[in-house]
Amino acid sequence: MDIRVLGCSGAIAKGNRTTSFLIDGRILVDAGTGVGDLTLDELERIDHVLLSHSHLDHVLGIPLMADAIMRRRLAAQPFRPLRVHALGQTLDALRRHVFNDVIWPDFTRLPKTEQAILELHRFQPGQVLELAGLRIEVLPARHTVPACGFGIETPSGWWVYTGDTGPNPDLWACLKGRRVAQLVIETAFSDDERALAEVSGHLCPGLLAGELAQLEQVGSVAITHVKPGELPAVTGQLDALRTGLPMVALSAGDCFNF
Ligand SMILES: [Zn+2]
Ligand SMILES: [Zn+2]
Repeated sequence: MDIRVLGCSGAIAKGNRTTSFLIDGRILVDAGTGVGDLTLDELERIDHVLLSHSHLDHVLGIPLMADAIMRRRLAAQPFRPLRVHALGQTLDALRRHVFNDVIWPDFTRLPKTEQAILELHRFQPGQVLELAGLRIEVLPARHTVPACGFGIETPSGWWVYTGDTGPNPDLWACLKGRRVAQLVIETAFSDDERALAEVSGHLCPGLLAGELAQLEQVGSVAITHVKPGELPAVTGQLDALRTGLPMVALSAGDCFNF
């Protein structure tokens, strides 16, 4: 399984793009501003978008992408919609607050109701999806809105993406006994903003230490969602934890194979 990091920042600035991972060229895990670096050909190949939650930094690529690929998809045979998979509350939020014909046209009915470019598919926590030849498990997350993470089974073990989350004991219980090839875990804030991390359902290095202590078998830990400008502080505080785990801070453009 090939993973390309399109965006892994907690906000934007030059060189900083918000969360999105491209899996095997066919599946997006979250659709932040990193999606905008894909060529039209690359966008057109994507069949599925998995959303961890409704926050703007994870969903804003979808309305723009739907618009970008719609005419190519209409010209191709057979017609392939873009399928967005998420928790029911996330899909409801998209319908009410994005595809409401005010913020953006309702692409679940365009270009015509019987052949719409966007399809919204609800999943449940704990559900296992089979998409594009991959088994993808919906994992628990604890954030300020209903949220989840994802685990994808690979020959080297599980690729686990936490999504946005604060301390998350349910996730570690769920991963008990499994080999994790790579854990992509958020550390949105430095320890200087621990109070903000706690109130906003995010992690900082001090909170991350408590999470990693509950992880059994992991090949590597990849840090994501750090706020622009905070990377030196966060990586310094992560080094000071001395977890002994192989740990990297992700950058847009990083590629992995598992
Ligand atoms: Zn969020
Ligand atoms: Zn976020």
